[in-house]
Amino acid sequence: MSQILGHIRSLPSHLADQIAAGEVVERPASVVKELLENALDSGANQITVEIEEGGEKAIYVTDNGCGIRKDELMLAVSRHATSKISTTEDLSSVSSLGFRGEALASISSVSRFRLLSRHQEAEAGWELAGEGEGRWCDIEPVAHPVGTSVRVEDLFFNTPARKKFLRSARTEFTHIDQLVKRVMLSRPDLSMTLIHNGSVVRQVKQANDEASLKKRLSHLMGAPFVEQSLSLTFDAQEISLTGWAGQPTFNRHQTDMQYFFVNGRIVRDRLLSHAVKQAYADVLYHGRHPAYVLFLTLPFDQVDVNVHPAKYEVRFANSRWVYDFIRRSVKERVGRPVASEGNKAHVSQSSQSGSDKEGGQAYQAAMQFQAPSSQNDASNTGLDAGYADDTGQNEDKSTGYSGVQESPSVYASSFSIHDIHGDKVTQEVSDFSAQASSSIAPCNQAQADSPRLGYAKAQIHGVFILAENAHGAVLVDMHAAHERIVYERLKTQWQNQRLISQPLLVPISIALSRSEMQVWEQYEDAFSRLGLVAEPLGPEQLKLTEVPALLAKSDVVTLFNDMLADFAVVGESDQLDQRINELLSTMACHGSVRANRPLTIDEMNALLRDMERTERSDQCNHGRPTWVQLSMDQLDRLFMRGR
Ligand code: ADP
Ligand code: MG
Repeated sequence: MSQILGHIRSLPSHLADQIAAGEVVERPASVVKELLENALDSGANQITVEIEEGGEKAIYVTDNGCGIRKDELMLAVSRHATSKISTTEDLSSVSSLGFRGEALASISSVSRFRLLSRHQEAEAGWELAGEGEGRWCDIEPVAHPVGTSVRVEDLFFNTPARKKFLRSARTEFTHIDQLVKRVMLSRPDLSMTLIHNGSVVRQVKQANDEASLKKRLSHLMGAPFVEQSLSLTFDAQEISLTGWAGQPTFNRHQTDMQYFFVNGRIVRDRLLSHAVKQAYADVLYHGRHPAYVLFLTLPFDQVDVNVHPAKYEVRFANSRWVYDFIRRSVKERVGRPVASEGNKAHVSQSSQSGSDKEGGQAYQAAMQFQAPSSQNDASNTGLDAGYADDTGQNEDKSTGYSGVQESPSVYASSFSIHDIHGDKVTQEVSDFSAQASSSIAPCNQAQADSPRLGYAKAQIHGVFILAENAHGAVLVDMHAAHERIVYERLKTQWQNQRLISQPLLVPISIALSRSEMQVWEQYEDAFSRLGLVAEPLGPEQLKLTEVPALLAKSDVVTLFNDMLADFAVVGESDQLDQRINELLSTMACHGSVRANRPLTIDEMNALLRDMERTERSDQCNHGRPTWVQLSMDQLDRLFMRGR
């Protein structure tokens, strides 16, 4: 990034007045934040941050950016002087990290401060030193390479009230470290070193290939995150989202691994985190939090950055658009089963490579390598053209599955297992065998071609399926997996208006209490849409005539009673649509294979193939994993082989 800053000018007072006011220098970490933003805005790709005693004693930031002209050094430290904006229009489309022209003035007024810089067009470096507000020494020549060093010492020495609020050096340093980590995450093209009391605490080198990017991410986020996250790239016309989303099973007790960047800017925004949270709503255990590193890029005039003194919050011109884009993108990515993805790693193609590399986009193009668990991450072309196309490319052509290649959403509504002609269901759903015999490839097929979850070998205690795949052994929690499959199908049917029902040859009569009868009367229509069709037989009796086809084999009386109980609760708030997923989840639980039900090998294989094709099938409806891989390495280690 070779951005050249223009001349520094004092902002006209009407413009200065429009700038969100507030103290920017709260603690050492806020000084570091402002200095790092300046370094990044100056086009630097090498930055060193040196801290002493948590920053209270000294903060030195050195960059190799464009530098400051000698005759503008004084302006740089005066209030409301900036090279980054000059008109009101500029303020509504800020492309730099800074824009207020206040940071150096604020920092230099509460510290012993030195600004050393050599402008890229200058022959020599110059130094401006000062102590507290307005007391500046003359500008002196100094030996300095092109770039800038800011040396802040004795922070708050002249404002004891603020000094009192500083915490221990360790705590203050932790804040600095977290901030530096975020900056390192945000810009893979940056080489950066953080030193505390003379020791290097963090150091990253510019990363420009897959291996070095992975190493860098692993250093910053930890290896487990890298191993268990899904890389993603979604690109609509003006907006794009890239980065990594942790698999639902890699969840956290806290929101401590959530990093969101908007046009390269570190933000903590409720709207954004809520959008991601919603994307995980169906796959995370209650009270757990997802982990992610996400980069949103959108036109600068769509983001108002002038809302928060430390610039941690932003406002979007069209927040609904942004929210929906994030929620849909992350949801789609997280929902795509790992099980459906090919065995071979594919490096995704950056849709942005070679194109617009301004602002936040440069590093994003650089960041598109694959986390190990995520392959074949095709870029999306547009919100609406969307997801089906994208996922379609992930279809594993080697599963030996006989059905046509369909995107999961198409698949789910068309039931490749269950032969549906119009509305008539000709085969039972929990019966896997019909499809199994025709579609399962022989077990001795070449390993490279074998499906992701492999081929079933045995059932263990009626609970687990043991399968063999190219990497070793796979264990599947049969009930959990099937429950998810049924749930996803129910949801798809619901989205297509109503659940497909199946008439009962012999209607079942159900005895109800008066109040249950009232609940049924009130929600008769909703019950019908859920495929549970009944007629009253008397004041306390119903005749069940149709049941959801997907659940025909389950205990429909218990199902009906459970649904009545659920509706009694829903009834209070009358929010069927909001609670529909919970209702469908209850239904799915009834419809899925119970533990202790023996399955044939063909049935087990059919279940594995279904998992590979069903969205979100890597987790059960409660966010627990449905399958685990035991690699040959892990198995060898269990037996201490190969020592
Ligand atoms: P702002 O960043 O909002 O413009 P600052 O007070 O942080 O305000 O900086 C004032 C000006 O000083 C900047 O606009 C920029 O032109 C210049 N400046 C500050 N730090 C650097 C740096 N590290 N490299 C080059 N120029 C800098
Ligand atoms: Mg600044």
